[in-house]
Amino acid sequence: MYKLRSEQISQRLYLSMIIIIFSLLFLSIPLIISSYQSYQKADRALTEISALRAVADLANKVSRERAPANKVMSSAPDELAANLNELHGYRKEVDLQIERTLQILNAAGFSAQVPGLSSNLKVTLQQGRQAVDAYAALPRSERTSTQLDDAIKQMFMAWDSCQEILKNVLLHTVAKDTSVSDSYTLILILADLRDQAGRIASNIIASVTFAEKIPEDNLARSLQTQHQAHYLWGLINTIQPEQAKTPEYLALHHQVKTQFLDQGIPIVAGLISESMQNRAYSLTGTQLTEAMVDKFATVVNLQTYILDYSVSVAQNQKKQAQQQFILTLLVAIICLVTAGFTMIYARNGVFKPLIKARNTIFRLAQHKVADNEYDEFSTDPVTLLQAIKKLKRVLQQRDALEFQLRNIANTDNLTGVSNRLALDEYIKYLEKKPEKFTQTALIIFDIDDFKQVNDTFGHIIGDEVIKLVVEKLQLNVRTSDLIVRYGGDEFLVLIEQTNFQDALIVANKILKEIGNYELYIAEINQNIQVSVSAGVAVGAASWMALLEKADKSLFQAKENGKNKVAG
Ligand code: GH3
Ligand code: MG
Repeated sequence: MYKLRSEQISQRLYLSMIIIIFSLLFLSIPLIISSYQSYQKADRALTEISALRAVADLANKVSRERAPANKVMSSAPDELAANLNELHGYRKEVDLQIERTLQILNAAGFSAQVPGLSSNLKVTLQQGRQAVDAYAALPRSERTSTQLDDAIKQMFMAWDSCQEILKNVLLHTVAKDTSVSDSYTLILILADLRDQAGRIASNIIASVTFAEKIPEDNLARSLQTQHQAHYLWGLINTIQPEQAKTPEYLALHHQVKTQFLDQGIPIVAGLISESMQNRAYSLTGTQLTEAMVDKFATVVNLQTYILDYSVSVAQNQKKQAQQQFILTLLVAIICLVTAGFTMIYARNGVFKPLIKARNTIFRLAQHKVADNEYDEFSTDPVTLLQAIKKLKRVLQQRDALEFQLRNIANTDNLTGVSNRLALDEYIKYLEKKPEKFTQTALIIFDIDDFKQVNDTFGHIIGDEVIKLVVEKLQLNVRTSDLIVRYGGDEFLVLIEQTNFQDALIVANKILKEIGNYELYIAEINQNIQVSVSAGVAVGAASWMALLEKADKSLFQAKENGKNKVAG
Protein backbone atom coordinates (compact mmCIF):
# COMPACT_ATOMS: atom_id res chain seq x y z
CA MET A 1 0.00 0.00 0.00
CA TYR A 2 2.65 2.54 1.05
CA LYS A 3 4.83 1.54 -1.92
CA LEU A 4 2.00 2.51 -4.18
CA ARG A 5 1.79 5.87 -2.45
CA SER A 6 5.54 6.48 -2.88
CA GLU A 7 5.18 5.78 -6.57
CA GLN A 8 2.35 8.27 -6.69
CA ILE A 9 4.56 10.90 -5.06
CA SER A 10 7.32 10.27 -7.65
CA GLN A 11 4.78 10.44 -10.46
CA ARG A 12 3.40 13.73 -9.14
CA LEU A 13 6.93 15.09 -8.86
CA TYR A 14 7.68 14.19 -12.48
CA LEU A 15 4.37 15.66 -13.55
CA SER A 16 5.09 18.97 -11.82
CA MET A 17 8.60 18.96 -13.35
CA ILE A 18 7.07 18.53 -16.81
CA ILE A 19 4.51 21.27 -16.11
CA ILE A 20 7.25 23.69 -15.00
CA ILE A 21 9.43 22.92 -18.02
CA PHE A 22 6.48 23.30 -20.38
CA SER A 23 5.48 26.58 -18.73
CA LEU A 24 9.00 27.88 -19.21
CA LEU A 25 9.01 26.74 -22.83
CA PHE A 26 5.59 28.29 -23.30
CA LEU A 27 6.93 31.60 -22.03
CA SER A 28 10.31 31.56 -23.69
CA ILE A 29 9.55 30.18 -27.16
CA PRO A 30 7.34 33.12 -28.24
CA LEU A 31 9.99 35.50 -26.87
CA ILE A 32 12.73 33.71 -28.79
CA ILE A 33 10.64 33.63 -31.96
CA SER A 34 9.68 37.31 -31.73
CA SER A 35 13.25 38.43 -31.04
CA TYR A 36 14.42 36.25 -33.94
CA GLN A 37 11.79 37.84 -36.18
CA SER A 38 12.95 41.30 -35.09
CA TYR A 39 16.47 40.29 -35.97
CA GLN A 40 15.35 38.99 -39.38
CA LYS A 41 13.44 42.20 -40.00
CA ALA A 42 16.45 44.33 -39.07
CA ASP A 43 18.57 42.17 -41.36
CA ARG A 44 16.05 42.59 -44.15
CA ALA A 45 15.92 46.35 -43.56
CA LEU A 46 19.70 46.52 -43.94
CA THR A 47 19.59 44.48 -47.16
CA GLU A 48 16.81 46.67 -48.56
CA ILE A 49 18.42 49.95 -47.64
CA SER A 50 21.69 48.76 -49.18
CA ALA A 51 19.80 47.82 -52.36
CA LEU A 52 17.99 51.19 -52.46
CA ARG A 53 21.26 52.93 -51.95
CA ALA A 54 22.77 51.08 -54.90
CA VAL A 55 19.84 52.15 -57.12
CA ALA A 56 20.12 55.74 -55.86
CA ASP A 57 23.83 55.71 -56.70
CA LEU A 58 23.00 54.39 -60.16
CA ALA A 59 20.36 57.10 -60.65
CA ASN A 60 22.94 59.71 -59.67
CA LYS A 61 25.46 58.33 -62.11
CA VAL A 62 22.90 58.28 -64.94
CA SER A 63 21.87 61.83 -64.03
CA ARG A 64 25.49 62.90 -63.92
CA GLU A 65 26.20 61.41 -67.38
CA ARG A 66 24.36 64.46 -68.70
CA ALA A 67 27.28 66.65 -67.66
CA PRO A 68 30.01 65.08 -69.91
CA ALA A 69 27.32 64.60 -72.60
CA ASN A 70 26.41 68.29 -72.50
CA LYS A 71 30.09 69.13 -72.56
CA VAL A 72 30.62 67.06 -75.70
CA MET A 73 27.59 68.61 -77.37
CA SER A 74 28.71 72.17 -76.62
CA SER A 75 32.43 71.52 -77.26
CA ALA A 76 34.60 73.70 -79.43
CA PRO A 77 36.25 71.52 -82.17
CA ASP A 78 39.62 71.46 -80.42
CA GLU A 79 38.11 70.20 -77.14
CA LEU A 80 35.87 67.59 -78.76
CA ALA A 81 38.27 64.67 -78.76
CA ALA A 82 39.17 65.09 -75.08
CA ASN A 83 35.55 65.58 -74.05
CA LEU A 84 34.44 62.56 -76.07
CA ASN A 85 37.11 60.54 -74.34
CA GLU A 86 35.82 61.68 -70.97
CA LEU A 87 32.21 60.86 -71.97
CA HIS A 88 33.10 57.35 -73.14
CA GLY A 89 35.02 56.68 -69.95
CA TYR A 90 32.08 57.84 -67.91
CA ARG A 91 29.62 55.74 -69.92
CA LYS A 92 31.69 52.64 -69.18
CA GLU A 93 31.50 53.49 -65.50
CA VAL A 94 27.69 53.87 -65.74
CA ASP A 95 27.39 50.53 -67.56
CA LEU A 96 29.44 48.85 -64.88
CA GLN A 97 27.28 50.44 -62.20
CA ILE A 98 24.16 49.13 -63.95
CA GLU A 99 25.49 45.56 -63.84
CA ARG A 100 26.62 45.90 -60.22
CA THR A 101 23.24 47.32 -59.16
CA LEU A 102 21.36 44.55 -60.92
CA GLN A 103 23.46 41.97 -59.10
CA ILE A 104 22.77 43.67 -55.76
CA LEU A 105 19.03 43.78 -56.51
CA ASN A 106 19.01 40.10 -57.43
CA ALA A 107 20.86 39.20 -54.25
CA ALA A 108 18.47 41.33 -52.20
CA GLY A 109 15.47 39.39 -53.47
CA PHE A 110 14.20 41.88 -56.05
CA SER A 111 14.91 39.55 -58.96
CA ALA A 112 11.28 39.67 -60.11
CA GLN A 113 11.52 43.43 -60.66
CA VAL A 114 14.95 43.40 -62.25
CA PRO A 115 14.55 42.15 -65.88
CA GLY A 116 11.78 44.48 -67.08
CA LEU A 117 13.22 47.52 -65.40
CA SER A 118 16.78 46.94 -66.46
CA SER A 119 15.87 46.44 -70.09
CA ASN A 120 13.82 49.65 -70.00
CA LEU A 121 16.76 51.54 -68.50
CA LYS A 122 19.19 50.10 -71.00
CA VAL A 123 16.92 51.00 -73.92
CA THR A 124 16.27 54.60 -72.81
CA LEU A 125 19.93 55.11 -71.95
CA GLN A 126 20.93 53.71 -75.33
CA GLN A 127 18.50 56.07 -77.06
CA GLY A 128 19.77 59.03 -75.04
CA ARG A 129 23.38 58.20 -75.91
CA GLN A 130 22.56 57.73 -79.58
CA ALA A 131 20.87 61.14 -79.63
CA VAL A 132 23.94 62.71 -77.98
CA ASP A 133 26.32 60.96 -80.37
CA ALA A 134 24.17 61.88 -83.38
CA TYR A 135 24.17 65.50 -82.31
CA ALA A 136 27.92 65.53 -81.69
CA ALA A 137 28.52 63.98 -85.13
CA LEU A 138 26.68 66.76 -86.91
CA PRO A 139 28.78 69.53 -88.51
CA ARG A 140 28.45 72.67 -86.40
CA SER A 141 26.59 74.51 -89.13
CA GLU A 142 23.88 71.86 -89.24
CA ARG A 143 23.25 71.78 -85.47
CA THR A 144 20.15 73.42 -84.00
CA SER A 145 19.11 74.15 -80.46
CA THR A 146 16.05 71.92 -80.86
CA GLN A 147 18.29 68.95 -81.70
CA LEU A 148 20.46 69.71 -78.70
CA ASP A 149 17.42 70.02 -76.43
CA ASP A 150 16.02 66.75 -77.78
CA ALA A 151 19.23 64.92 -77.01
CA ILE A 152 19.14 66.35 -73.45
CA LYS A 153 15.49 65.30 -73.06
CA GLN A 154 16.39 61.78 -74.23
CA MET A 155 18.92 61.63 -71.41
CA PHE A 156 16.22 62.78 -68.98
CA MET A 157 14.25 59.70 -69.99
CA ALA A 158 17.12 57.43 -69.03
CA TRP A 159 17.05 58.93 -65.56
CA ASP A 160 13.26 58.48 -65.45
CA SER A 161 13.84 54.74 -65.98
CA CYS A 162 16.15 54.73 -62.98
CA GLN A 163 13.52 56.53 -60.96
CA GLU A 164 11.08 53.81 -62.03
CA ILE A 165 13.42 51.11 -60.69
CA LEU A 166 13.79 52.99 -57.44
CA LYS A 167 10.03 53.37 -57.02
CA ASN A 168 9.43 49.74 -57.90
CA VAL A 169 12.01 48.43 -55.48
CA LEU A 170 10.58 50.70 -52.81
CA LEU A 171 7.12 49.33 -53.51
CA HIS A 172 8.33 45.79 -52.96
CA THR A 173 10.26 46.35 -49.74
CA VAL A 174 9.01 44.30 -46.80
CA ALA A 175 10.69 45.93 -43.80
CA LYS A 176 8.46 48.97 -44.13
CA ASP A 177 7.43 49.28 -40.50
CA THR A 178 10.97 49.53 -39.11
CA SER A 179 12.43 52.85 -38.04
CA VAL A 180 14.89 52.56 -40.92
CA SER A 181 12.05 52.58 -43.43
CA ASP A 182 11.70 56.38 -43.01
CA SER A 183 14.87 56.54 -45.02
CA TYR A 184 13.29 54.66 -47.93
CA THR A 185 11.13 57.65 -48.85
CA LEU A 186 14.00 60.03 -48.23
CA ILE A 187 16.20 58.15 -50.68
CA LEU A 188 13.54 58.52 -53.37
CA ILE A 189 13.09 62.24 -52.69
CA LEU A 190 16.82 62.87 -52.59
CA ALA A 191 17.29 61.14 -55.92
CA ASP A 192 14.53 63.30 -57.32
CA LEU A 193 16.01 66.48 -55.82
CA ARG A 194 19.39 65.63 -57.27
CA ASP A 195 17.92 65.15 -60.75
CA GLN A 196 15.60 68.14 -60.61
CA ALA A 197 18.54 70.26 -59.52
CA GLY A 198 20.43 69.06 -62.58
CA ARG A 199 17.51 69.74 -64.90
CA ILE A 200 17.17 73.39 -63.90
CA ALA A 201 20.17 74.26 -66.03
CA SER A 202 19.75 71.49 -68.59
CA ASN A 203 16.35 72.86 -69.61
CA ILE A 204 17.83 76.16 -70.83
CA ILE A 205 21.30 75.05 -71.88
CA ALA A 206 20.33 74.48 -75.55
CA SER A 207 19.04 78.06 -75.93
CA VAL A 208 22.02 79.50 -74.06
CA THR A 209 24.46 77.50 -76.21
CA PHE A 210 22.84 78.79 -79.39
CA ALA A 211 22.32 82.27 -77.90
CA GLU A 212 18.64 81.97 -78.77
CA LYS A 213 15.60 83.03 -76.87
CA ILE A 214 14.41 80.28 -74.50
CA PRO A 215 11.23 78.65 -75.90
CA GLU A 216 8.09 78.79 -73.77
CA ASP A 217 8.11 75.06 -73.16
CA ASN A 218 11.69 75.04 -71.85
CA LEU A 219 10.98 78.08 -69.76
CA ALA A 220 8.01 76.37 -68.19
CA ARG A 221 10.05 73.21 -67.53
CA SER A 222 12.91 75.15 -65.98
CA LEU A 223 10.61 77.10 -63.67
CA GLN A 224 8.83 73.91 -62.74
CA THR A 225 12.06 72.16 -61.81
CA GLN A 226 13.16 75.19 -59.75
CA HIS A 227 9.92 75.05 -57.87
CA GLN A 228 10.26 71.28 -57.53
CA ALA A 229 13.78 71.60 -56.12
CA HIS A 230 12.61 74.08 -53.44
CA TYR A 231 9.69 71.87 -52.57
CA LEU A 232 11.79 68.69 -52.28
CA TRP A 233 14.41 70.47 -50.21
CA GLY A 234 11.73 71.48 -47.68
CA LEU A 235 10.17 68.02 -47.79
CA ILE A 236 13.45 66.37 -46.83
CA ASN A 237 13.57 68.31 -43.59
CA THR A 238 9.99 67.30 -42.78
CA ILE A 239 10.57 63.61 -43.39
CA GLN A 240 14.00 63.37 -41.77
CA PRO A 241 13.30 62.02 -38.21
CA GLU A 242 14.11 64.56 -35.47
CA GLN A 243 16.67 62.24 -33.84
CA ALA A 244 18.44 61.89 -37.20
CA LYS A 245 18.89 65.67 -37.56
CA THR A 246 22.50 65.59 -36.52
CA PRO A 247 24.62 68.77 -36.62
CA GLU A 248 26.26 67.38 -39.74
CA TYR A 249 22.88 66.89 -41.43
CA LEU A 250 21.74 70.39 -40.45
CA ALA A 251 24.94 71.91 -41.85
CA LEU A 252 24.60 70.03 -45.17
CA HIS A 253 20.91 70.86 -45.43
CA HIS A 254 21.76 74.50 -44.87
CA GLN A 255 24.51 74.39 -47.52
CA VAL A 256 21.98 73.22 -50.14
CA LYS A 257 19.99 76.34 -49.27
CA THR A 258 22.87 78.82 -49.28
CA GLN A 259 24.81 77.46 -52.24
CA PHE A 260 22.39 75.70 -54.51
CA LEU A 261 19.02 77.38 -53.88
CA ASP A 262 20.34 80.87 -53.07
CA GLN A 263 23.31 81.01 -55.47
CA GLY A 264 22.88 78.27 -58.11
CA ILE A 265 19.27 78.88 -59.08
CA PRO A 266 19.73 82.70 -59.43
CA ILE A 267 22.35 82.00 -62.14
CA VAL A 268 19.66 80.19 -64.17
CA ALA A 269 17.08 82.83 -63.21
CA GLY A 270 19.48 85.54 -64.45
CA LEU A 271 19.87 83.83 -67.83
CA ILE A 272 16.08 83.39 -68.09
CA SER A 273 15.55 87.08 -67.43
CA GLU A 274 18.27 87.98 -70.00
CA SER A 275 16.38 85.84 -72.51
CA MET A 276 13.08 87.48 -71.69
CA GLN A 277 14.58 90.94 -72.00
CA ASN A 278 16.18 89.91 -75.28
CA ARG A 279 19.62 90.67 -73.92
CA ALA A 280 22.78 88.74 -74.71
CA TYR A 281 23.50 85.87 -72.31
CA SER A 282 26.20 86.58 -69.79
CA LEU A 283 27.35 82.93 -69.89
CA THR A 284 27.99 80.34 -72.58
CA GLY A 285 26.54 76.83 -72.37
CA THR A 286 29.85 75.37 -71.10
CA GLN A 287 30.24 78.15 -68.54
CA LEU A 288 26.72 77.53 -67.29
CA THR A 289 27.43 73.82 -66.85
CA GLU A 290 30.63 74.52 -64.94
CA ALA A 291 29.06 77.22 -62.73
CA MET A 292 26.22 74.92 -61.74
CA VAL A 293 28.39 71.85 -61.00
CA ASP A 294 29.83 73.47 -57.83
CA LYS A 295 26.50 74.53 -56.40
CA PHE A 296 25.10 71.22 -57.28
CA ALA A 297 27.72 69.35 -55.24
CA THR A 298 25.93 70.39 -52.02
CA VAL A 299 22.82 68.43 -53.06
CA VAL A 300 24.98 65.37 -53.75
CA ASN A 301 26.75 65.80 -50.39
CA LEU A 302 23.44 65.92 -48.50
CA GLN A 303 22.22 62.87 -50.37
CA THR A 304 25.40 60.91 -49.67
CA TYR A 305 25.28 61.84 -45.99
CA ILE A 306 21.67 60.71 -45.55
CA LEU A 307 22.35 57.48 -47.43
CA ASP A 308 25.41 56.72 -45.28
CA TYR A 309 23.53 57.62 -42.13
CA SER A 310 20.57 55.39 -43.01
CA VAL A 311 22.82 52.45 -43.75
CA SER A 312 24.68 52.90 -40.45
CA VAL A 313 21.37 53.12 -38.53
CA ALA A 314 20.23 49.92 -40.23
CA GLN A 315 23.55 48.25 -39.37
CA ASN A 316 23.23 49.28 -35.73
CA GLN A 317 19.69 48.07 -35.51
CA LYS A 318 20.63 44.75 -36.98
CA LYS A 319 23.44 44.44 -34.44
CA GLN A 320 21.11 45.36 -31.57
CA ALA A 321 18.44 42.93 -32.75
CA GLN A 322 21.08 40.23 -33.04
CA GLN A 323 22.31 40.90 -29.49
CA GLN A 324 18.73 40.95 -28.24
CA PHE A 325 18.05 37.62 -29.89
CA ILE A 326 21.21 36.02 -28.48
CA LEU A 327 20.39 37.44 -25.02
CA THR A 328 16.82 36.13 -25.12
CA LEU A 329 18.07 32.74 -26.23
CA LEU A 330 20.72 32.67 -23.49
CA VAL A 331 18.30 33.74 -20.76
CA ALA A 332 15.81 31.11 -21.90
CA ILE A 333 18.49 28.42 -21.92
CA ILE A 334 19.77 29.50 -18.48
CA CYS A 335 16.19 29.47 -17.10
CA LEU A 336 15.54 26.01 -18.47
CA VAL A 337 18.86 24.60 -17.29
CA THR A 338 18.41 26.19 -13.84
CA ALA A 339 14.88 24.85 -13.58
CA GLY A 340 16.13 21.44 -14.66
CA PHE A 341 18.95 21.44 -12.12
CA THR A 342 16.67 22.73 -9.36
CA MET A 343 14.21 19.98 -10.09
CA ILE A 344 16.89 17.30 -10.18
CA TYR A 345 18.24 18.68 -6.91
CA ALA A 346 14.73 18.76 -5.41
CA ARG A 347 14.21 15.17 -6.51
CA ASN A 348 17.56 13.82 -5.29
CA GLY A 349 18.16 16.12 -2.34
CA VAL A 350 14.65 16.60 -0.98
CA PHE A 351 11.98 14.30 -2.33
CA LYS A 352 13.97 11.07 -2.57
CA PRO A 353 15.22 11.33 1.05
CA LEU A 354 11.69 12.26 2.13
CA ILE A 355 10.18 9.30 0.34
CA LYS A 356 12.90 7.10 1.82
CA ALA A 357 12.22 8.46 5.30
CA ARG A 358 8.52 7.95 4.76
CA ASN A 359 9.07 4.35 3.71
CA THR A 360 11.35 3.79 6.70
CA ILE A 361 8.65 5.13 9.00
CA PHE A 362 6.16 2.75 7.42
CA ARG A 363 8.52 -0.17 7.80
CA LEU A 364 9.25 0.74 11.43
CA ALA A 365 5.57 1.15 12.12
CA GLN A 366 4.88 -2.29 10.68
CA HIS A 367 7.40 -3.89 13.02
CA LYS A 368 5.57 -5.25 16.07
CA VAL A 369 7.22 -5.04 19.47
CA ALA A 370 5.48 -8.06 20.84
CA ASP A 371 3.00 -10.54 19.49
CA ASN A 372 -0.68 -9.69 19.81
CA GLU A 373 0.11 -6.14 20.82
CA TYR A 374 -1.56 -3.17 19.17
CA ASP A 375 -4.45 -5.13 17.85
CA GLU A 376 -5.91 -1.90 16.63
CA PHE A 377 -3.05 -1.78 14.10
CA SER A 378 -3.24 -5.40 13.07
CA THR A 379 -3.71 -4.04 9.55
CA ASP A 380 -0.84 -2.07 7.97
CA PRO A 381 -0.88 1.69 8.53
CA VAL A 382 -2.42 3.47 5.58
CA THR A 383 -1.35 7.05 6.06
CA LEU A 384 1.91 8.54 7.25
CA LEU A 385 0.06 10.05 10.21
CA GLN A 386 -1.19 6.65 11.28
CA ALA A 387 2.30 5.23 10.93
CA ILE A 388 3.70 8.02 13.13
CA LYS A 389 0.93 7.45 15.69
CA LYS A 390 1.77 3.79 15.78
CA LEU A 391 5.48 4.51 16.18
CA LYS A 392 4.67 6.87 19.02
CA ARG A 393 2.82 4.10 20.86
CA VAL A 394 5.65 1.68 20.24
CA LEU A 395 8.13 4.20 21.63
CA GLN A 396 5.94 4.84 24.70
CA GLN A 397 5.84 1.11 25.34
CA ARG A 398 9.58 0.91 24.93
CA ASP A 399 10.03 3.73 27.45
CA ALA A 400 7.88 1.83 29.98
CA LEU A 401 9.92 -1.34 29.42
CA GLU A 402 13.14 0.59 29.73
CA PHE A 403 11.91 2.06 33.01
CA GLN A 404 11.12 -1.40 34.29
CA LEU A 405 14.48 -2.72 33.18
CA ARG A 406 16.25 0.15 34.86
CA ASN A 407 14.43 -0.61 38.11
CA ILE A 408 15.33 -4.25 37.85
CA ALA A 409 18.95 -3.41 37.19
CA ASN A 410 19.13 -0.99 40.13
CA THR A 411 17.36 -3.17 42.64
CA ASP A 412 18.69 -5.94 44.79
CA ASN A 413 16.55 -8.89 43.86
CA LEU A 414 16.52 -10.43 47.33
CA THR A 415 15.48 -7.41 49.34
CA GLY A 416 14.10 -4.97 46.79
CA VAL A 417 16.29 -2.11 48.04
CA SER A 418 18.86 -0.40 45.82
CA ASN A 419 21.97 -2.26 44.78
CA ARG A 420 25.52 -1.02 44.16
CA LEU A 421 24.63 -0.03 40.59
CA ALA A 422 22.00 2.34 41.92
CA LEU A 423 24.49 3.55 44.52
CA ASP A 424 27.03 4.36 41.78
CA GLU A 425 24.47 6.55 40.06
CA TYR A 426 23.62 8.25 43.33
CA ILE A 427 27.30 8.90 43.98
CA LYS A 428 27.62 10.44 40.51
CA TYR A 429 24.70 12.69 41.37
CA LEU A 430 26.32 13.67 44.68
CA GLU A 431 29.70 14.31 43.09
CA LYS A 432 28.13 16.88 40.75
CA LYS A 433 27.31 18.90 43.88
CA PRO A 434 30.27 18.25 46.25
CA GLU A 435 28.78 20.57 48.92
CA LYS A 436 26.14 17.89 49.47
CA PHE A 437 28.72 15.58 51.11
CA THR A 438 28.99 17.94 54.08
CA GLN A 439 25.32 17.43 54.92
CA THR A 440 24.94 13.78 53.95
CA ALA A 441 24.97 11.08 56.58
CA LEU A 442 26.20 7.60 55.77
CA ILE A 443 25.33 4.78 58.15
CA ILE A 444 26.77 1.30 57.47
CA PHE A 445 24.85 -1.54 59.06
CA ASP A 446 26.38 -5.04 59.25
CA ILE A 447 24.61 -8.06 60.70
CA ASP A 448 26.58 -9.41 63.60
CA ASP A 449 27.85 -12.95 63.28
CA PHE A 450 25.77 -13.64 60.26
CA LYS A 451 27.96 -16.49 59.23
CA GLN A 452 26.74 -18.25 62.31
CA VAL A 453 23.10 -17.73 61.30
CA ASN A 454 23.86 -19.33 57.99
CA ASP A 455 25.76 -22.10 59.60
CA THR A 456 23.04 -22.79 62.13
CA PHE A 457 19.86 -22.36 60.07
CA GLY A 458 21.09 -22.61 56.54
CA HIS A 459 21.26 -20.06 53.72
CA ILE A 460 17.54 -19.92 53.02
CA ILE A 461 16.85 -18.85 56.58
CA GLY A 462 19.87 -16.51 56.25
CA ASP A 463 18.11 -14.89 53.32
CA GLU A 464 14.94 -14.47 55.35
CA VAL A 465 16.96 -12.81 58.11
CA ILE A 466 18.44 -10.40 55.56
CA LYS A 467 14.93 -9.54 54.31
CA LEU A 468 13.66 -8.94 57.84
CA VAL A 469 16.60 -6.68 58.68
CA VAL A 470 15.88 -4.68 55.55
CA GLU A 471 12.21 -4.37 56.54
CA LYS A 472 13.34 -2.87 59.86
CA LEU A 473 15.60 -0.44 58.02
CA GLN A 474 12.80 0.62 55.67
CA LEU A 475 10.44 1.16 58.59
CA ASN A 476 12.87 3.49 60.34
CA VAL A 477 14.05 5.78 57.54
CA ARG A 478 12.17 8.15 55.26
CA THR A 479 11.30 7.01 51.78
CA SER A 480 13.52 9.76 50.45
CA ASP A 481 16.51 8.18 52.19
CA LEU A 482 18.48 5.67 50.20
CA ILE A 483 18.96 2.10 51.44
CA VAL A 484 21.60 0.09 49.58
CA ARG A 485 22.52 -3.56 49.98
CA TYR A 486 26.26 -3.05 49.81
CA GLY A 487 27.57 -6.48 50.66
CA GLY A 488 26.07 -9.82 51.65
CA ASP A 489 24.94 -8.73 55.14
CA GLU A 490 26.04 -5.12 54.88
CA PHE A 491 23.68 -2.15 54.18
CA LEU A 492 24.19 1.55 53.62
CA VAL A 493 21.68 4.16 54.62
CA LEU A 494 22.19 7.61 53.08
CA ILE A 495 20.35 10.53 54.60
CA GLU A 496 20.65 13.96 52.99
CA GLN A 497 20.38 17.28 54.81
CA THR A 498 21.08 15.98 58.26
CA ASN A 499 23.61 16.27 61.06
CA PHE A 500 25.65 13.84 63.07
CA GLN A 501 23.34 13.84 66.13
CA ASP A 502 20.27 13.03 64.08
CA ALA A 503 22.13 10.34 62.19
CA LEU A 504 23.22 8.75 65.51
CA ILE A 505 19.61 8.83 66.66
CA VAL A 506 18.44 7.04 63.53
CA ALA A 507 21.21 4.42 63.82
CA ASN A 508 20.50 3.73 67.50
CA LYS A 509 16.77 3.50 66.84
CA ILE A 510 17.33 0.86 64.17
CA LEU A 511 19.79 -1.04 66.33
CA LYS A 512 17.21 -1.19 69.09
CA GLU A 513 14.44 -2.21 66.71
CA ILE A 514 16.51 -5.17 65.59
CA GLY A 515 18.51 -6.02 68.67
CA ASN A 516 15.75 -5.75 71.28
CA TYR A 517 13.41 -8.13 69.59
CA GLU A 518 13.73 -11.61 68.18
CA LEU A 519 12.91 -12.02 64.53
CA TYR A 520 10.18 -14.49 63.77
CA ILE A 521 11.04 -16.89 60.95
CA ALA A 522 7.87 -18.41 59.59
CA GLU A 523 9.64 -21.22 57.66
CA ILE A 524 10.92 -22.82 60.88
CA ASN A 525 8.26 -21.29 63.11
CA GLN A 526 11.02 -19.99 65.36
CA ASN A 527 12.35 -16.69 66.69
CA ILE A 528 15.91 -15.80 66.06
CA GLN A 529 17.89 -13.20 67.93
CA VAL A 530 19.79 -10.99 65.50
CA SER A 531 21.76 -7.82 66.04
CA VAL A 532 23.49 -5.34 63.80
CA SER A 533 26.39 -2.96 64.29
CA ALA A 534 26.40 0.52 62.75
CA GLY A 535 29.13 2.96 61.72
CA VAL A 536 28.04 6.56 61.32
CA ALA A 537 29.75 9.32 59.35
CA VAL A 538 28.50 12.76 58.41
CA GLY A 539 30.28 15.24 56.15
CA ALA A 540 33.42 14.56 54.13
CA ALA A 541 35.25 16.03 51.17
CA SER A 542 34.34 13.10 48.91
CA TRP A 543 32.35 9.94 48.72
CA MET A 544 35.40 7.78 49.33
CA ALA A 545 36.28 9.81 52.41
CA LEU A 546 32.75 9.50 53.75
CA LEU A 547 32.70 5.76 53.11
CA GLU A 548 36.06 5.29 54.76
CA LYS A 549 34.94 7.27 57.78
CA ALA A 550 31.74 5.22 58.17
CA ASP A 551 33.64 1.97 57.57
CA LYS A 552 36.11 2.84 60.37
CA SER A 553 33.17 3.61 62.68
CA LEU A 554 31.63 0.22 61.82
CA PHE A 555 34.90 -1.48 62.57
CA GLN A 556 34.96 0.39 65.86
CA ALA A 557 31.38 -0.72 66.66
CA LYS A 558 32.32 -4.36 66.00
CA GLU A 559 35.44 -3.92 68.14
CA ASN A 560 33.32 -2.46 70.88
CA GLY A 561 31.48 -5.75 71.10
CA LYS A 562 28.90 -5.59 68.32
CA ASN A 563 25.24 -4.45 68.54
CA LYS A 564 26.81 -1.03 68.89
CA VAL A 565 26.76 2.29 67.08
CA ALA A 566 30.04 4.08 66.60
CA GLY A 567 30.71 7.43 64.90
P1 GH3 B 1 30.75 -10.05 61.80
O1 GH3 B 1 29.91 -9.88 62.99
O2 GH3 B 1 32.14 -9.73 61.98
O3 GH3 B 1 30.17 -9.31 60.62
O4 GH3 B 1 30.71 -11.57 61.45
P2 GH3 B 1 29.93 -12.29 60.30
O5 GH3 B 1 29.76 -13.68 60.52
O6 GH3 B 1 28.71 -11.56 59.89
O7 GH3 B 1 31.03 -12.15 59.16
P3 GH3 B 1 30.87 -11.51 57.74
O8 GH3 B 1 30.09 -10.28 57.83
O9 GH3 B 1 32.26 -11.40 57.18
O10 GH3 B 1 30.17 -12.62 56.95
C1 GH3 B 1 29.08 -12.42 56.07
C2 GH3 B 1 28.50 -13.66 55.66
O11 GH3 B 1 27.25 -13.52 55.08
C3 GH3 B 1 29.33 -14.45 54.73
C4 GH3 B 1 28.37 -15.08 53.72
O12 GH3 B 1 28.36 -16.45 53.72
C5 GH3 B 1 27.05 -14.61 54.16
N1 GH3 B 1 26.25 -14.17 53.11
C6 GH3 B 1 26.58 -13.23 52.20
N2 GH3 B 1 25.56 -13.03 51.33
C7 GH3 B 1 24.53 -13.89 51.72
C8 GH3 B 1 23.23 -14.10 51.22
O13 GH3 B 1 22.75 -13.51 50.26
N3 GH3 B 1 22.46 -15.07 51.91
C9 GH3 B 1 22.92 -15.71 52.96
N4 GH3 B 1 22.12 -16.60 53.53
N5 GH3 B 1 24.17 -15.50 53.38
C10 GH3 B 1 24.97 -14.60 52.83
MG1 MG C 1 28.41 -9.53 59.37
